[in-house]
Amino acid sequence: MPHLSVAKFGGTSVANFDAMSACADIITADTNTRVVVLSASAGVTNYLVELANGCELSRRNDILNAVRTIQFNIIEKLQKPEMVIEKIEHYLTHIKALAESASLATSLALTDEIICHGEMMSTCIFTQLLNERNFPAVWVDVRDVVATDSHFGKAAPNDEKTVQQTNAVIKPLLEQGKVVITQGFIGRDDEGKTTTLGRGGSDYSAALLAEVLNANDVLIWTDVPGIYTTDPRIVSAAKRIDTISFNEAAEMATFGAKVLHPATLLPAVRSNIPVFVGSSKAPEQGGTWVTRDPQPRPTFRALALRRNQILLTLSSLSMLHSQGFLANVFTILAKHKISVDVVTTSEVSIAITLDKTGSTSSGLDILSDDLLAELREVCKVNVETDLALVAIIGNNLHTQAGIAKQLFETLSPYNVRLISYGASTNNVCTLVKNKEADEIIQALHSALFE
Ligand code: ADP
Ligand code: ASP
Ligand code: MG
Repeated sequence: MPHLSVAKFGGTSVANFDAMSACADIITADTNTRVVVLSASAGVTNYLVELANGCELSRRNDILNAVRTIQFNIIEKLQKPEMVIEKIEHYLTHIKALAESASLATSLALTDEIICHGEMMSTCIFTQLLNERNFPAVWVDVRDVVATDSHFGKAAPNDEKTVQQTNAVIKPLLEQGKVVITQGFIGRDDEGKTTTLGRGGSDYSAALLAEVLNANDVLIWTDVPGIYTTDPRIVSAAKRIDTISFNEAAEMATFGAKVLHPATLLPAVRSNIPVFVGSSKAPEQGGTWVTRDPQPRPTFRALALRRNQILLTLSSLSMLHSQGFLANVFTILAKHKISVDVVTTSEVSIAITLDKTGSTSSGLDILSDDLLAELREVCKVNVETDLALVAIIGNNLHTQAGIAKQLFETLSPYNVRLISYGASTNNVCTLVKNKEADEIIQALHSALFE
């Protein structure tokens, strides 16, 4: 079997004509890359989410013009713009009609139907750009391939159906020597409705397709030349990590390192598929390889930050010497499809952190009145906001002497609202004030990595 790489290019990589051309250079220079997954051009999904959440006519027109400008600035530079103009106009007309519906009544299904257009447009334009280089690129609607459940905004893939559809749609094209260009982020449910995998979900799409196709690797091309010890936008002294394990990278992604969508590593771990992260603007700089068991495995690997966290403190007097309280609470959270990040407990209360939007595509708050009402039936509920989760990621953190001292010394000037240490060998989590988070990351980075 010839080597097969699935490549994914993120929003900034397909933001304009020059960026798209750099991606085309990477693909045409690498005969292994035969399936390519794209995000929407940078900024487009945010605009579409705003339309989907409902806005008045003048704002709708402004947004539609802004989206049109982003796409037409690229199209104008094609040799044969006429090959795609009609399709893009069709998509824009469709967005306009759907946005009008959303201004009257929003729904999660409608949101997904609107926001899928970002990826539809970017892939359509990029396929034309490659064809103009006489490259055998062929456009595929990924909804014919990736099957999901109907959890709009954060759908879960249906693996079995996706395998069947990949075999039927993508494999024959690869056998004909074509290079498949398709959308990340989106799928289709059993009723034929468009779904999305949650914000940043294109990484996940690429890893899923790689797993189903038995690919040798997944190449995530983005705007940074690899995974760093922390977000280089927060700490300029952050260093590139050359090799990192699936576990460590998964912890980083889960706790906010935006460079990888948290679910990306699931298929990679399951099927042991190495993941590469590099910069589409500077491929010569190399990048990070995420693999099963790289060496060395330092005690401190990286810092991750997730802003806008909610802390729920749930207290029940009946928790004293009683059973079932935690089960009740988690049943309610599960019913509302809320995943809990960090948990600490005392004799009569439990504190849990939640991600404000749960990274669903709509970006709406997950803490609904219904959820709070149900929780209040079983306990007293206290909600704190404006918090950030700072995670220290590493190896065997629970068995190293002196870790707590080192961390507490660095954190001593700050108010740490909650700390979780011991559940995972790979992380220590702290909950701090949103406004102090950057400073805390800088202080920890300087103490642990510089
Ligand atoms: P894309 O649009 O290509 O998916 P994203 O914006 O989702 O790109 O992810 C890349 C960004 O992730 C970088 O610009 C960087 O600011 C951020 N990031 C956060 N943590 C890290 C980290 N540890 N290493 C590298 N980048 C990180
Ligand atoms: N375009 C989607 C987003 O902005 C998916 C992605 O970029 O991965 O979230
Ligand atoms: Mg991303």
